[in-house]
Amino acid sequence: MQPDLKVQCARKNAGPGHLMQTDVAIIGGGPAGLSAATVLASYGAKVVVVDEQAHIGGRLLGQLYQKRNGTWWIGRHIAHDLEQQATNSSVQFLTETSVWGVFPQWTLRLYSPSRVVPETIQASCVLICTGAAQVPIPIAGWTLPGVMGVGAAQMLVNAYHVRPGKRALVIGVDLLGLTIARELQLGGVDIAGIVLPDKSLVSRTSDSPLAAMKFLGQLSDWAPTWMMRRIAYGLRHPFWASQAARLFPHGGIKIWDMPLLFRQAATAILGEQQVEGVTVVDVQTNGDPIPGSEHVMAVDTVFLSGGLYPLAELPAAMGCRLAFIPELGGQVPLYGPWGETTLESVFVAGSVTGIEGAQVAMEQGILAGIGIARHLGLIDQDDAEAQRQKAHEKIWLARSSAEVQFLASIQTGRNLMKTLWQNAKAATTVSDT
Ligand SMILES: Cc1cc2nc3c(=O)[nH]c(=O)nc-3n(C[C@H](O)[C@H](O)[C@H](O)COP(=O)(O)OP(=O)(O)OC[C@H]3O[C@@H](n4cnc5c(N)ncnc54)[C@H](O)[C@@H]3O)c2cc1C
Repeated sequence: MQPDLKVQCARKNAGPGHLMQTDVAIIGGGPAGLSAATVLASYGAKVVVVDEQAHIGGRLLGQLYQKRNGTWWIGRHIAHDLEQQATNSSVQFLTETSVWGVFPQWTLRLYSPSRVVPETIQASCVLICTGAAQVPIPIAGWTLPGVMGVGAAQMLVNAYHVRPGKRALVIGVDLLGLTIARELQLGGVDIAGIVLPDKSLVSRTSDSPLAAMKFLGQLSDWAPTWMMRRIAYGLRHPFWASQAARLFPHGGIKIWDMPLLFRQAATAILGEQQVEGVTVVDVQTNGDPIPGSEHVMAVDTVFLSGGLYPLAELPAAMGCRLAFIPELGGQVPLYGPWGETTLESVFVAGSVTGIEGAQVAMEQGILAGIGIARHLGLIDQDDAEAQRQKAHEKIWLARSSAEVQFLASIQTGRNLMKTLWQNAKAATTVSDT
């Protein structure tokens, strides 16, 4: 992909050391940020989108999968369309530019390795759409070349058409790992298996066969046959999940020709200069290793899949009030019905508010765009309220029809957020946007 000409032009106009002033600064050019940018520009706001990546689109760029109805979700194309719409509405982009701090009266401090972007943006409103990040799985040997997060592998194979390895083992059991393993397989990588992470203080995802069975239960709608759907559905019941964990074969079972080795856990990645293999041990149903069962699987690549968490460092550093809500993926900024936070003129949208797919992020971006337009007085209250209700319906629809649902209790998490917000409002320190 070639660097974008209009981005370079924007940079030249800005000049190093320059202070840029704008109505709205959007941090993150993924589906949430792009959708919000177009809405805001359509109301006449001056909008700048800042993204640390070279290309606009966020995690959409790596997404490529077949939907249940047989059509394909090609994230790169969707990102291109969103970027085009924003560009046509005169949204300005600063790529390869990190926002390293946001200071009161909303001054964004920027860093770019090329040093030809403005160092500072002064904005009336800030929208934070920083997305999500992967939870690491620390394991002996994980710094060897050939070890990467599944998200990196997804970008390599789907966005850059590079095969990251020939024969790979996935460590970690979660939906993202499973779907990306399938994408990598379609991209020509031989998936030797998906194993559990070694049970440890930091292994947050399924680190026992029992937890893995519960995970399979959540995936019942995805099972390829009617019979498998029924069996997987049964795993939602704790009794059947524990029976399945006990009876699950140590040699694993195959889905899409990928061995699910949920009675084995990885204990170390081996190699001198690069990955050469992984030491794997058989485990009991609670994840404890079975002594003497260690063996080595020969692979040249390892993908780590520890789950996702909302990237909320910036709102935390700015002083937004946060809440730890596991149903949303971890620490998230408190937000209200317009996407507003506990800080005046600061809004959030997308995965930074809780881990969900791109369609939900787009609808959340539209909602935040309407909220900011209302806050800036660009839209009248009645119109804004009508649009807010429509946007909430669309978010709900996107959530209930999502192809990928990362967190089983996401709606519970959203409801909890609503209550926390109302409580915070009642306690009155929350500004009324
Ligand atoms: C590794 C990974 C893989 C995923 N795969 C899928 C998938 O296959 N299917 C799916 O539906 N969902 C997937 N998701 C979920 C994903 O979060 C949503 O699909 C969607 O992309 C969220 O949109 P967003 O706009 O909130 O954030 P993102 O799309 O993540 O965009 C956030 C943007 O913010 C930028 N950014 C962050 N911090 C800064 C900063 N300080 N300064 C400047 N720029 C910054 C990033 O560079 C990024 O471009 C994945 C998420 C991750 C992390």
